[in-house]
Amino acid sequence: MELTFLGTSTMAPTKDRNNTAIYLQTEKYGILFDCAEGTQRQFKIGKINFNKLDFILISHHHGDHTLGICGLIQTLATNNYKKKLTIFGPKDTKKYIKNAMNSCIFTSKIDLDIIEISNGKIFENENIVIESLEMTHSVPCVAYSLIQKGHRRFDLEKMKKLNVKEGPLWNELQKGKSITVNNKTIKPSDVTFLSSDKKVTYCIDTSLNKNTYKISKDADILICESTFDEDLKDKAQDYGHMSVDEACDIANKSKVKQLILTHFSARYKTTDGILKHAKEYFKNVICAYDFFKVKI
Ligand SMILES: [Zn+2]
Ligand SMILES: [Zn+2]
Repeated sequence: MELTFLGTSTMAPTKDRNNTAIYLQTEKYGILFDCAEGTQRQFKIGKINFNKLDFILISHHHGDHTLGICGLIQTLATNNYKKKLTIFGPKDTKKYIKNAMNSCIFTSKIDLDIIEISNGKIFENENIVIESLEMTHSVPCVAYSLIQKGHRRFDLEKMKKLNVKEGPLWNELQKGKSITVNNKTIKPSDVTFLSSDKKVTYCIDTSLNKNTYKISKDADILICESTFDEDLKDKAQDYGHMSVDEACDIANKSKVKQLILTHFSARYKTTDGILKHAKEYFKNVICAYDFFKVKI
């Protein structure tokens, strides 16, 4: 999987940071966490193919997380988007998207499915699971976890060595069956291995609460807001946000492998101070910036 941060600012964008949107490309699906104003342009600059998008996961309906949805939908239509776009979001998501579409002359020409969710498993198929839990913000807000299920993968070096050519034999191995090549039996374990599940958690615009720990449990990557540095912890609490030490506390207690901080207040010209403090609490931490990419 690969993550691309398309916007890493809070309410107000800065010249270097757009508002929140993060694109996750899984093996099969394109998933966008929130869709701030200008996200479609960020797609272009970040060299992300619009037609790969399948899901938009909205955390909540503050404008800095949603104002780009209509523009993106219009652009998808002009890009000959043929898939069904599924939008998940908290209570009243249908109303807010409909209102946004009614705010201008707008015809949605794409197949759109809008689903309001709260707590639990909201999507599952043979490739991925998406879960959500309610957060504590000034408006209904949810965090998401995306789990890409592990599956049988090919060891291309070994395949070459044993002369297993791409084609129907690969399907047999994929199903866990043995094959015969040059009168030699090859077991799936000779040329394939089982990859493990990978989990990405997106936890944004919330104060610290028990669900922040629950949704992040054992995540390979936790994308977490760190709107404020630790000296403004009280302010974070008042506004339904988190400070850097709180984000690190989740990463520690939930046994997260890597923490990526985002959603920085526009008051911070650089994130050097936040990163320095974060490293005092949790070692494997990065501060995201616009167009930062990371492979999982
Ligand atoms: Zn926000
Ligand atoms: Zn908010």
